[in-house]
Amino acid sequence: MKQFDFQIGRCIFLRLDYGKDLLEQLSEFLEMEGIEAAHISGIGAVRNAEIGYYDQKMREYVKRRVEGGLEILSLSGNVSLKDGKPFPHIHAVLDRDSEIYAGHLFAAEVFACELFIASLDGDIPVRELDELTGLHLWI
Ligand code: ZN
Repeated sequence: MKQFDFQIGRCIFLRLDYGKDLLEQLSEFLEMEGIEAAHISGIGAVRNAEIGYYDQKMREYVKRRVEGGLEILSLSGNVSLKDGKPFPHIHAVLDRDSEIYAGHLFAAEVFACELFIASLDGDIPVRELDELTGLHLWI
């Protein structure tokens, strides 16, 4: 196990811009504000999402693109450093007419999105390649 202790820092409500990619906007904001560790949650609606899961045998992400409008029932994740930059790791549960699409979020065009960002002060976790899993994990 690896433990990182924090104090809660700034807490921010962030409304993302229509038509732009959710993760790109979030990454830009985190970098601009110098937020290197955070807890993220959010709700809203997106279009044309790319989600997936990590195939543990193949050691690669399997991605699926879902076209059209989707409700964000739940979005949660964290921020830590990867390659010297704040890296948001986000999972989402998306819905269209009670059909659920869920997984690791790779991309989604924002229709309307409200995020809660709780920045964390303390030991900033850094992601590096973990040989055992093939994932970039906190070291
Ligand atoms: Zn993930």
